[in-house]
Amino acid sequence: MRRVYLDYNSTTPIDKEVKEAIMPFLENKFGNPSNLHYFGRETREAIENARRKVAEFLNTKPERIFFTSGGTESCNWAIKGIAIANQNKGNHIITSAIEHSSVLNSCLALKKFGFEITILPVDEYGIVDIDYLKKSIRKNTILVSIMHSNNEVGTIQPIEEISQILKNYDIYFHTDAVASAGKIKLDVEKLGVDLLTISGHKIHAPKGVGVLYIREGVNIENLIHGGHHEQGKRAGTENLIGIVGMGKACEILMRDMEKDIEKMKKLRDYLEKKILENIEDVRINGHLEKRLCNTTNISFGYIEGEALLVNLDLEGIAVASGSACASGEPEPSHVLKAMNVPIEYINSPVRFSLGKENTKEEIDYTIEVLIKVVKRLREITAFKKRI
Ligand SMILES: *Cc1c(COP(=O)(O)O)cnc(C)c1O
Repeated sequence: MRRVYLDYNSTTPIDKEVKEAIMPFLENKFGNPSNLHYFGRETREAIENARRKVAEFLNTKPERIFFTSGGTESCNWAIKGIAIANQNKGNHIITSAIEHSSVLNSCLALKKFGFEITILPVDEYGIVDIDYLKKSIRKNTILVSIMHSNNEVGTIQPIEEISQILKNYDIYFHTDAVASAGKIKLDVEKLGVDLLTISGHKIHAPKGVGVLYIREGVNIENLIHGGHHEQGKRAGTENLIGIVGMGKACEILMRDMEKDIEKMKKLRDYLEKKILENIEDVRINGHLEKRLCNTTNISFGYIEGEALLVNLDLEGIAVASGSACASGEPEPSHVLKAMNVPIEYINSPVRFSLGKENTKEEIDYTIEVLIKVVKRLREITAFKKRI
């Protein structure tokens, strides 16, 4: 069957060049990077080379890059590590209502240990309320964690504006930039953040590798204890294959990102335009300009998002409904709820997230199928209403 993959915000295929870079480490380059002999030195060099690439990608020094098991671990580490290390300073953390579960649930888990959490509201486009943030800052606030862009609707947050505000206080600032990597230039100096998370499998590297950028001088406790790996901050024999893949993925992004962004944006805009032209009663969720180049989140009136997902899947098209992490739950998306999406649209979002491999032909096929499927599903709803 013909397969069209439009779920790049969930995960991405491994890039061909990434695969080639990894291959030697699946074959004869297997040494433990902690060992002093030839085999160890060989893999140590590969890891440090990858670290340099990631550092360049984020505009920082290699010593500020720490490899983890993924975006989830990086977010957990940033939040719990700052909380534990700075308890003497305070117990208040600020985050937002539209964060990924790895941030929201890390914050909520800290409540059990006496931390207080403020969850910032967002406007109808999914942008955090800056005035609310200003009013929420207290003497005992130790950390603010706001995502760089949202993975469900694609809305980009005013990170630089927030870091300007926080400069007047002794508060650490973490941003989950997993959804932004490869779609917007990430520069930790320009952003003014203290901690930043990215994940390998969202940028064509393998699953199970992530990065936490930690600014020099930041007081953070370890999450994983053990040996002296990652400058004594994150123990465990390195995920060599993941790390090499991550380095290569960042190298490719630095070379190709600009042209891939243009390509994804053009196709996304084309898909959106065709949907609006051909299907009635649809609603685009999120901000139309301050938005990731590859993402569109659209609600189709009178249709459940899940039903649309399943019917598109039967025709070989892969999309997401609500958020991937929440699928299976009957609850509407916490992101759309926070955005106050009208009741008739809240259960019907479908997220199309494109990638550099998508073609215009695939989008044309998707539109053709979508028109057909929406029509059929609406006929069923109309029929049900009549009886
Ligand atoms: C995927 C994702 C994560 C989690 O990353 P993993 O590497 O899958 O653990 C965190 N934040 C956002 C915004 C994501 O999209």
